[in-house]
Amino acid sequence: MAGIMATPVQLNFTAPRRGMPPTHMADLTREKLQTTIQDLGLPKFRADQIARQYYGRLQGDPREMTDLPESKREAVSEALFPQLMAPLKDTEADDGETRKTLWRLHDGTLLESVLMRYPGRATLCISSQAGCGMACPFCATGQGGLDRNLSTGEMVEQVRLAAATMRDGEVSGEEGRLSNIVFMGMGEPLANYKRVVETIRKITNPAPEGFGISQRNVTVSTVGLAPAIRKLADEEMSVRLAVSLHTPDDELRDELVPVNNRWSVEEVLDAARYYAEKSGRRVSIEYALIRDINDQAWRAELLGKKLHGALGSKVHVNVIPLNPTPGSKWDASPKERQDEFVRRVIEQGVPCTVRDTKGQEIAAACGQLAAEER
Ligand code: SF4
Repeated sequence: MAGIMATPVQLNFTAPRRGMPPTHMADLTREKLQTTIQDLGLPKFRADQIARQYYGRLQGDPREMTDLPESKREAVSEALFPQLMAPLKDTEADDGETRKTLWRLHDGTLLESVLMRYPGRATLCISSQAGCGMACPFCATGQGGLDRNLSTGEMVEQVRLAAATMRDGEVSGEEGRLSNIVFMGMGEPLANYKRVVETIRKITNPAPEGFGISQRNVTVSTVGLAPAIRKLADEEMSVRLAVSLHTPDDELRDELVPVNNRWSVEEVLDAARYYAEKSGRRVSIEYALIRDINDQAWRAELLGKKLHGALGSKVHVNVIPLNPTPGSKWDASPKERQDEFVRRVIEQGVPCTVRDTKGQEIAAACGQLAAEER
């Protein structure tokens, strides 16, 4: 489909426009935390004590860590616990089961995360970058460009704060546990590779090095940076990979997902197959269904065929009804078209479901709240 975009797109992988935040305890390895603690005149064992408070009890303020000597709490706070983010706006939807928070970071950058409660589990959608350089034309975040990468501490703090929110019963009035993390908020996680992998380890390692959430409950979503997908596979983790494909043909994908000009559908699916083989996990294919753009029956068939050929039984398609951004010409497909699309993918032997659109009424497609605020 030609003519979707009026101007050529500049992809922006690196060039952050603003500065990274001060170092936080959550940026450090266990060893580095120990040496920092010793530099503050405390014995090494205090490092694990602080980490247990942080990851285990979700305590982010050393002044409240009563097992630390009172005379040292202020120094620990100053050295290791700068305030990385402050809530700017909370929005609720789905009878209070979805909460979207807009955060202001130390340099004024805006960031968002979405917490969704389901029966028996709670999922946090976190951002890995402020803004995004991938320039997908249907996405609010993509229109604003990349502000900067998030630090490990900024990603870990999103998780800690959400876990505390769940524990304290602040989502639909009932105590619960944060069980799942998806890197599907603002940004392309694999463009901030090193910090995202560090963050995954802090999410999944047991205390005192992390929150102890199962790797199987963590999903990393990418637009298809093929070499980084292979690198992630070689990390030998069992996190789920989700690839935002959005169309099975290069002609349209070059426009819908401009990074396709660098790594074609075939290269992306090859990398996804490598990931499935190494991790033993099914890869999720994300497909935002857009009226009259990528919702044709022939595309559904082509999608099913290509996925079956590349990934066999190691794939699942999530169809996502597009959540149109304000003022956008893009729209969701009608329900009948959507059902037909799903049916035709399944006919090719590939499981396909429509993703729950929790949070849609509060603009929970990636980046929309921050885009509105800008
Ligand atoms: S859809 Fe995802 S990858 Fe594309 S511009 Fe938006 S945030 Fe970036």
